[in-house]
Amino acid sequence: MKRKAESNTSKSVDLDKSHWSAGLLKSMKDPECIVKEDDKIIVIKDKYPKAQFHYLVLPKEDISSIWQVKRNHQDLLMHMHNIARDLVEKQTDHEFIIGYHAMPSMQRLHLHVISTDFNSPCLKTKYHWNSFTTPFFLHSSDVSRQLHEEGEIKKVSPERCKEYLNTQLKCHKCTLQPKNMPALKRHILTHIDKQKQ
Ligand code: AMP
Ligand code: ZN
Repeated sequence: MKRKAESNTSKSVDLDKSHWSAGLLKSMKDPECIVKEDDKIIVIKDKYPKAQFHYLVLPKEDISSIWQVKRNHQDLLMHMHNIARDLVEKQTDHEFIIGYHAMPSMQRLHLHVISTDFNSPCLKTKYHWNSFTTPFFLHSSDVSRQLHEEGEIKKVSPERCKEYLNTQLKCHKCTLQPKNMPALKRHILTHIDKQKQ
């Protein structure tokens, strides 16, 4: 499991800018990757999209991950959420989810904005699937509400993260529990076909 650069504890992490986990910082400077920018945020296309549409909203402020977010970042998180909503509203034919991974692998806070077709050759593993379809995925609206009401975001332990990532495969649209990823990938196409009808 390649999830080492960022810990979901407050322990300091190795933020080596030449490490693979600094890839988002490079993409934030690459005009080819940038979709939108303002004084506070940059939106990039995910380089290995796990669905037909997959964007990342990143703050310009050097916040290493969701676990470094403090009460004073409330407005920033709300702004990131609103930017995500704007992107989603343009794609009226697709459903989206907007949120953070409980144990991110890449440096710099990033908000996933992803369509729920999950139809992409880059979506290969059980970890990929479970990272978007179990409580490992922290929905942005829940995170903002917690920060507003409790002044902090409830920690998810590394053990719990592992449990979520190892959860038995389950379709996000019905009760089917496919036996492996190829079966799941075949199955989700049936939901996409139904949606088109
Ligand atoms: P996370 O597990 O939340 O840290 O997700 C990191 C996301 O960054 C994944 O969806 C990757 O596909 C994506 N990614 C990895 N490297 C790059 C890069 N250099 N540029 C843009 N997106 C990237
Ligand atoms: Zn299904």
